[in-house]
Amino acid sequence: MPDLPVSELLDLDRRHVWHPYGPMPGRQEPLVVESASGVRLRLADGGGELVDGMSSWWSAIHGYNHPVLNDAVRGQLDRMSHVMFGGLTHEPAVGLAKRLVDMSPDGLEHVFLADSGSVSVEVAVKMCLQHWRSLGRPAKRRMLTWRGGYHGDTWQPMSVCDPEGGMHELWQGVLPQQVFADAPPAGFEAYDDESDVYAAHLRELIGRHADELAAVIVEPVVQGAGGMRFHSPAYLRVLREACDEHDVLLVFDEIATGFGRTGRLFAADHAGVTPDVMCVGKALTGGYLTMAATLCTARVADGISRGEVPVLAHGPTFMGNPLAAAVACASIDLLLGQDWQTEVKRIEAGLLGTLGEAAALPGVRDVRVLGAIGVVQLDHDVDMAAATRAATREGVWLRPFRDLIYTMPPFITGDDDVARIGRAVCAAAKEG
Ligand SMILES: *Cc1c(COP(=O)(O)O)cnc(C)c1O
Repeated sequence: MPDLPVSELLDLDRRHVWHPYGPMPGRQEPLVVESASGVRLRLADGGGELVDGMSSWWSAIHGYNHPVLNDAVRGQLDRMSHVMFGGLTHEPAVGLAKRLVDMSPDGLEHVFLADSGSVSVEVAVKMCLQHWRSLGRPAKRRMLTWRGGYHGDTWQPMSVCDPEGGMHELWQGVLPQQVFADAPPAGFEAYDDESDVYAAHLRELIGRHADELAAVIVEPVVQGAGGMRFHSPAYLRVLREACDEHDVLLVFDEIATGFGRTGRLFAADHAGVTPDVMCVGKALTGGYLTMAATLCTARVADGISRGEVPVLAHGPTFMGNPLAAAVACASIDLLLGQDWQTEVKRIEAGLLGTLGEAAALPGVRDVRVLGAIGVVQLDHDVDMAAATRAATREGVWLRPFRDLIYTMPPFITGDDDVARIGRAVCAAAKEG
């Protein structure tokens, strides 16, 4: 395709192309990216470079144009870019499943490869409902979650997103009616003792609805797009106990938190808890291609296989895509082959150092950092245009939403660039 002049490209984009959560035609002009490498996005038309503070929505943990990941895609491209997964299999998919089983919490044994995070959540919900249906308990078909969550944009995931103030408020009354607990108390350290009121609330609600609950689904430790809130890992243990007591399955959505982002490989590791079902996505392929996975225990798979219909009736056309699976294997090997904990801690320390300053700014309600995640929460909704301008002036790409200016940089971000991202977050908080 010949290069379009940028003005023409933007005009066509505005007229024809939907962007995430956007109106049509678009109102805010996007930036045109020409290429990306390391932690930098290069803008078209001599627009300069921006340090990426977003890892392309949690995914590009190793940065862009990484030689090892490029080689993995190229090598696989020369063998085959895709074959159907029904009746056929291949080393990239099998190798990926083995890696995921080995690195995830003990007990997760089986892997369903899906093509996006939302689809992996659909599959997780289907697994849980089918498990109970197969065991002769079809009334167990609702999900319980806590408020403040985000699980994706297709139908079942939307039904367990926070029903208020979130992106899916429009669909209340149309979506399946799920059971909602209050949002967990804010803060990684926020857990008192056995008499914790919130833990009692969770136990009571799970007990009360046990007969109709297939599963509890939550984002462990960090609620992402629902509000960038952190909570104590102790509540994951409370959920595990209550679910075991009342015959309810437990699903962890680790699509945002997986692969080291919170300082542990998976957020579940902070609690030492194994869920019955776990979704991963986003950083799975190092940000190269779309792929996600739903892992489950032998118990869940066994339940399903005892049913009248003993199969899991799900099979995306591009299931197990070899290109995506090959780069996912390479990305996992790259992560585990380095001292990633030290890198995440280094970024955490850098963000704590620079974002601290934002706490004193007028209009700032809270500043929080966990692993390679930094959040500044305002007491008002962000002026997106002004905040984005302020960040790009500092040479940084940020994408605030609601009252939140936040960053989750690639793990390879150097100290100077972490400091620059911190300055950009503060500038965006001042002007946004
Ligand atoms: C992004 C996200 C999803 C949805 O993943 P997609 O790949 O965008 O469909 C689901 N759950 C969580 C926690 C996420 O952060």
